[in-house]
Amino acid sequence: EAATGTGARVVHYDASLEQRLTQRATVAADLHRGLAAGEFHLLYQPIVELPQGRIVGVESLVRWSRADGSIVSPADFIPVAEDTGLIVELGAWILDTACAQAAEWRRLHGPDALRSIAVNVSARQLLDPCLPDLVAAALARHGVPAAQLTIEITETAVFAGGRALATVNALSRLGVSIALDDFGTGHSSLGLLRTCPVDAIKVDKSFVDGLNGTPQQEAIAIALTGIAQSMGLRTVAEGVETEAQARRLTELGYRHAQGFHFARPMPPAAIDDLLRAEDPVAA
Ligand code: C2E
Ligand code: MG
Ligand code: MG
Ligand code: MG
Repeated sequence: EAATGTGARVVHYDASLEQRLTQRATVAADLHRGLAAGEFHLLYQPIVELPQGRIVGVESLVRWSRADGSIVSPADFIPVAEDTGLIVELGAWILDTACAQAAEWRRLHGPDALRSIAVNVSARQLLDPCLPDLVAAALARHGVPAAQLTIEITETAVFAGGRALATVNALSRLGVSIALDDFGTGHSSLGLLRTCPVDAIKVDKSFVDGLNGTPQQEAIAIALTGIAQSMGLRTVAEGVETEAQARRLTELGYRHAQGFHFARPMPPAAIDDLLRAEDPVAA
């Protein structure tokens, strides 16, 4: 475009690029400082069993609350953390914090109160050959069995580099569950089910949004859970926002769901309340 465009367009392009780069550098420096200053915390969103909506697991979701009181969305800082490599340090903190929390819930509510605690792992982390050791160490440090941890990866991440698939295989050998996040939005979702040791798929919100729409829109949601079931995989429907969607998912044979209709991401104490409400016998 620069070659065919006018001088003015080239200048405009350069200016916005420079601005973007400056912003990135600022965010990167701030991320580093924020990590040292303890400005990050994890929220946990319930994953529930349909149709009753009983909590069976949680997904950890990172938040950055800065000194000025603003909360930064992971969509804004995870990409920068990835580009700068800071995701390795941040990711290690996330894994350790989630495992510590899992251990705390085991103590408070018994070892079976939550079937799984899920942690998101991004493309750059999958390229780190130390990741499986890091996961094993976090589990051991807090006495959490591997089977209780789910690592959420995306198809895009697995395709990012040759080493990513080897890392996923090593993680799977540890005994943690592997969930394919945002399933159906990548390039080769179905092919990946053959080559990657997947235990669960998380059907992307875009398909849930198509429920109760046209038969064509529903067809994909139906097909995805059919394939998952015939392969012995767990299916979680993401981004369920309405009662009608939850009902339709149940009719279509979905067993697990996550979304604002059931619960928003919440601090650990709120998960405690949910677990206590469901098991009044527990202390
Ligand atoms: P994700 O892993 O697909 O997480 C689900 C996102 O959907 C979360 O956004 C969650 O708050 C949101 N969500 C859940 N239910 C609903 C719903 O019913 N409606 C709508 N509109 N949204 C819903 P969040 O927390 O902003 O995270 C965004 C993304 O950032 C995540 O997508 C994940 O890719 C990434 N991320 C979050 N935490 C981490 C982390 O600890 N490590 C890494 N590497 N990535 C993370
Ligand atoms: Mg996820
Ligand atoms: Mg997801
Ligand atoms: Mg998603």
